[in-house]
Amino acid sequence: MRLPTLAALGAALRGPAAGAGPLARVAAVSMVAAPDAAPSVEATKTSFDEVVMKTYGRFSLVVSHGEGCYLWDTTGKKYLDFAAGISTCCLGHADKRLVTAVDAQMRKVHHVSNLYYIPQQGELARRLVDRSCLDRAFFCNSGAEANEAAIKLARKHAHLRGVTHPIIITALNSFHGRTLAAITATGQPKYQQGFGPLVPGFEYVPYNDVDALRALVKRIHRNPFRRGRRLAAILMEPLQGEGGITPATREFIAAARELCDEHDALLMSDEVQTGMGRTGDMWGYMHHGIEVDVLTTAKALGGGVPIGAMLCKERANVFAPGDHASTYGGNPLACAAGNAVMTAFDDDDLLQRVRARGQQLRNGLEALQASTGVIAEVRGWGLILGIELNETCGFVASDVVARLMEGGMLTVPAGQRVVRFVPPLVISEAEIEEALAKCADVLNALKQPA
Ligand code: PLP
Repeated sequence: MRLPTLAALGAALRGPAAGAGPLARVAAVSMVAAPDAAPSVEATKTSFDEVVMKTYGRFSLVVSHGEGCYLWDTTGKKYLDFAAGISTCCLGHADKRLVTAVDAQMRKVHHVSNLYYIPQQGELARRLVDRSCLDRAFFCNSGAEANEAAIKLARKHAHLRGVTHPIIITALNSFHGRTLAAITATGQPKYQQGFGPLVPGFEYVPYNDVDALRALVKRIHRNPFRRGRRLAAILMEPLQGEGGITPATREFIAAARELCDEHDALLMSDEVQTGMGRTGDMWGYMHHGIEVDVLTTAKALGGGVPIGAMLCKERANVFAPGDHASTYGGNPLACAAGNAVMTAFDDDDLLQRVRARGQQLRNGLEALQASTGVIAEVRGWGLILGIELNETCGFVASDVVARLMEGGMLTVPAGQRVVRFVPPLVISEAEIEEALAKCADVLNALKQPA
């Protein structure tokens, strides 16, 4: 299916409405049906780059439309989508249930202020609470905004117990988003450079280093001259996504839990990328056999319709009216999408599917590791998997991503040497096989440069 350009559509609509003669009407109809109505990729890029800020390095790809786990570009080329909008389009593209829910809600009422009760929001909150160890939800629009809410919540929680200098510990190599507090929480200087002064009150530890975590907490509380300096929270991804698809160890998260209990601090799980079934459990923290006090989610929560949420335990439920807000947060349209996604989890037995397809993908990638010799490690959980390339293989993750794209498959790098696989959760057995065949072709081709 090729969509008409806006100009063609406008001409078609204007013709008959303006009372034009039969010839004009024929011309208008043929413009709508024109097979090559889309502007060229070059034209789109040029026009785009003139007016949009260059905050992204973009591939030369203009997506026209999608269906299921496939996308088509404006030249008609088809791609198997193992990027899913970076772990976002959990139901794939143009899922009928999501389309119907959003369409129906749009026709009824799409936005009202949070000054009023929003039943769709209440329903989504209940479903999130029922499927987690948390008791309350606050809705927003993105992952960074959910983390901002969590950071404010941790500070208020600490403030209420007399802490004047609350400290939040995060991990090196983490990623928590792009707002000022979120880049401060993100333990990677490259995201912080040029944006100082950063937000005070953050300390960092190497991920999975239990001794360093214990030592840091001790150091925070040791200074007798700064009695108000206390641990407020430990914020961790259960598996580092942007940082290279690295799962946290059970020992590390158990130590974080113990330290938070000891100091009346909050253990906060950033599940923006790992949440909503991506790992084969509803939430990543479930892999560690502990409960968390706060959880942030976004990306897959609306299946690609923008929505985020911060969930917390009742004991951390310290926001009072006026403490925090978001105009769009949890509006009827976004929550209708969220509820459609939640319904799909039950109807499709999605968690079971993620586990089965995740195992299939992992087995296939491990077979490629053995046959190609260019993969150092296959890691991850469920359908968030990464292959780390050997240091000596002679190419990097972005080379693999570019070659896969040429071959009709979309993936995303996670750092220099890791290629990330995060397909829609509804991916089929045959589509996984297709992806593995494409990966084999690309890795073998890169291994033997012409
Ligand atoms: N936290 C994690 C773990 C993420 O992976 C991301 C985005 O990739 C974010 C937060 C930021 O989310 P958003 O881009 O929706 O603000």
